[in-house]
Amino acid sequence: MTITYELGNALYINITNRCSNRCSFCVRNNSQGVAAGIQLWLEREPAVAEVLADIRKRDINQYKEFVFCGYGEPMMRAFDVLEISRQLKDEFDKPVRINTNGHANLICGQDITPRLAGLIDAVSISMNAKNSQEYQQLCLPDYDEAAYPALLDFAGKCRQYVPEVTLSVVDVMPPADIAACRAIAEEIGVNFRVRQFQT
Ligand code: SF4
Repeated sequence: MTITYELGNALYINITNRCSNRCSFCVRNNSQGVAAGIQLWLEREPAVAEVLADIRKRDINQYKEFVFCGYGEPMMRAFDVLEISRQLKDEFDKPVRINTNGHANLICGQDITPRLAGLIDAVSISMNAKNSQEYQQLCLPDYDEAAYPALLDFAGKCRQYVPEVTLSVVDVMPPADIAACRAIAEEIGVNFRVRQFQT
């Protein structure tokens, strides 16, 4: 099973296939469990020690950063993400990024953003829509109407503790919607990125 994989000059860490969304465009809808040409379906969730052992097998010098991403929402295991990051920070002098749906505080039932301080260097949050109603239609979140305001709130709170916070959308959105999302990101005071849509 693929716990870590290379993409560009980063080492990606795949720790769960669970997610609090069911986005219509998600790579998890690919029944082969393949994304970016890599089999990412996990037979089971790897333990923290197993993840670290998999990372240590690599030549870490060749990577610019570690990225929690994969075939599900990494913050479904938020405390494990933080524990792994703590050990990575101790062992390697590399930035750590989380690619997330921004639901972490809902998933954990508490504001966990202060715990990211000193462990996480960048958070990239998929925004997906310009308002809660469209987000619910597209992403079918477990948290219904609470999800979208919570992800924006998460982005704003992360600003205090994480050096680089980005809200992102995909380039297939209508330009007017992208502009509306950009305006929201600016209002919150975080970066905004339009990323390429990948199937
Ligand atoms: S948030 Fe990401 S992992 Fe979760 S369903 Fe949507 S695209 Fe898939």
